[in-house]
Amino acid sequence: MANSPTRILLIYTGGTIGMIKDYDTGALKAFNFNKLEKKIPELGQLDCSIDTVSFEEPLDSSNMDPGHWVKIAGLIEEHYETYEGFVVLHGSDTMSYTASALSYMLEHLRKPVVLTGSQLPIGDLRTDAKENLITAIQVASLQERGRPVIQEVCLYFEYKLYRGNRTTKINAEHFEAFASLNYPPLAESGVHLKVNYEALYRGSRRKALLVHKELDTNVAILKLFPGLNKEVLTSVLNIPGLKGLVLETYGAGNAPTQDWFVSALKDAMTRGIKVVNVTQCSGGSVLMGQYETSEALRKIQIISGADITTEAAITKLMYLLGNKVSAKSFKTIFETSLRGEMS
Ligand code: ASP
Repeated sequence: MANSPTRILLIYTGGTIGMIKDYDTGALKAFNFNKLEKKIPELGQLDCSIDTVSFEEPLDSSNMDPGHWVKIAGLIEEHYETYEGFVVLHGSDTMSYTASALSYMLEHLRKPVVLTGSQLPIGDLRTDAKENLITAIQVASLQERGRPVIQEVCLYFEYKLYRGNRTTKINAEHFEAFASLNYPPLAESGVHLKVNYEALYRGSRRKALLVHKELDTNVAILKLFPGLNKEVLTSVLNIPGLKGLVLETYGAGNAPTQDWFVSALKDAMTRGIKVVNVTQCSGGSVLMGQYETSEALRKIQIISGADITTEAAITKLMYLLGNKVSAKSFKTIFETSLRGEMS
């Protein structure tokens, strides 16, 4: 008896990938995903059946917010038993934030959730949309011994499949728009589709999907720069209602050693604000205590983001604050890898 095709749910949220050129007017307009197989007949060669669901109002991803992440997570939850894999079409600008947030929100995920997008619209002559879409669907439909090969939230772009919460958008015009500098690709597409099995995330087999929808947005990101003054730092730390701050420091987690700087942070932490030290370098890790310029931060017990990306750090703060993690265990839990977001 022939195996039944793998069922994939395509969730279209917006972004360039969902656009098509009207050759009469030259304008870009939203693509009708119900006619997907007519426009991309190559999809017929994949052994899967594809259903689509679209946001009523396709979004440029600059307008994505945690409410939209909840909507995507809710769609996955609603259709979790019916489909073997999920492909989320999303604008590339904030795709790494959405991928990171979803990775925390979908606890005990055992199926692939692959985000993809493109730099050029589907109908464009040199488009990257077709390859990204076809391979994202192919990756999401990979099965071995009746189980999905990929069991995590990932991001597919320009021949590489990455762990979503390890990615950053690094280029606004190259097709190779994303990088994952602290974690190897999960798969690479060339003549063959090569899966890097050792890099795949494996959660608990016994637990059912748990979808977390509480995210706290009383958070901020502050990037250090030479000349950052006391007024700016204290204003940020005194934002009414602020609960968490991602501090983008230099190199391996280094920062100014002046008293006013360290005391302002210490004071904020005493008031219960969670401060996370993340490096502003694209790759590498925070290692407090390696230089004198990070020793003071270590002493005041600032949270180490290790090699987490800023995208994964800010969404982790939203997730842990939303889940009301106790003050006592917050630092330990943040410094623990929850979904493979840090080494
Ligand atoms: N501005 C677009 C967006 O992020 C760019 C893209 O789709 O890649 O929605």
